[in-house]
Amino acid sequence: MKYCCKNMEYFLRNNRKEGDFDSDDIIYYAPQYDEYGIVIHDSGKSYIKMIYCPWCGKKLPDSKKDLWFDELEKIGLFNPFEEEVPEKFKSDAWWQHLIKKYPKKCFGVDEYIVDVDAGWKEGFVSSNDLEQDFETLTNLFNKWLYNEKNPQESWENELYYNALCDISKAMYKIDDVKELAEYIQKIWIRRFNDKTKSFDEYIQIATNIKKVL
Ligand SMILES: [Zn+2]
Repeated sequence: MKYCCKNMEYFLRNNRKEGDFDSDDIIYYAPQYDEYGIVIHDSGKSYIKMIYCPWCGKKLPDSKKDLWFDELEKIGLFNPFEEEVPEKFKSDAWWQHLIKKYPKKCFGVDEYIVDVDAGWKEGFVSSNDLEQDFETLTNLFNKWLYNEKNPQESWENELYYNALCDISKAMYKIDDVKELAEYIQKIWIRRFNDKTKSFDEYIQIATNIKKVL
């Protein structure tokens, strides 16, 4: 396992077994969810999810906990905390191969506190829906830009991928087409310094997004 820095490695490895939860620890890493947390010292199994490394400041990976539930549901396990889950779901084995298929960077969920004992699992968005929507959004933009690549190929362009991430995060919150068009225009100018498009063109893509998503 690679850590973001020596300090993180020290606190996760010192006197402990990887993946084991000890309520006396300071930092915990849940390999099955790819989540880092600050341990709550209440002798339970709770931790507060960390978004950034407290030492080096690097952004930590987005949690895969919602995807974990989705994948287990696919094999008929709806109460994974009460049922025996397959061995690969107790470690990072299940997501290591999935991650190669989908870039997950922009599917982060909001901050939350997880209590493993209580089986708390509210507030998750299905990552399958998000992936579907993100693929649809990419297709709309590719068409708009006369780009004939498929979504997977076009995500290799990091600048483009990040712009789509920005838009995918905003598109659910912005109902008004004109407002969405203004937002896309802002992203396009900021990320690509592209001032060649008319506002009508932004209205066109915003209308298409609102029609489909
Ligand atoms: Zn670090």
